Amino acid sequence: TYVVTENCIQCKYTDCVDVCPVDCFYEGPNFLVIHPDECIDCGLCEPECPAEAIFAEDDLPAEQQHFVALNAELAERW
Ligand code: SF4
Repeated sequence: TYVVTENCIQCKYTDCVDVCPVDCFYEGPNFLVIHPDECIDCGLCEPECPAEAIFAEDDLPAEQQHFVALNAELAERW
């Protein structure tokens, strides 16, 4: 699955949402998140993000690992 990370916080772009074929982006408190069960791993959103906030889970930098759980949690709640 793909994961939205720190750089998305307060970002105003929604290019990722526009390209996602399955509409699995959800609005969190101050950034977008990807629903891990809905993401089909197409990879289309990653190059579209102007903030470079989207990573494949396998490519996540170590300091962004906690965003895996945050995406999952916030996608359900918001
Ligand atoms: Fe949507 Fe594809 Fe990005 Fe997953 S990888 S969030 S399905 S655009």
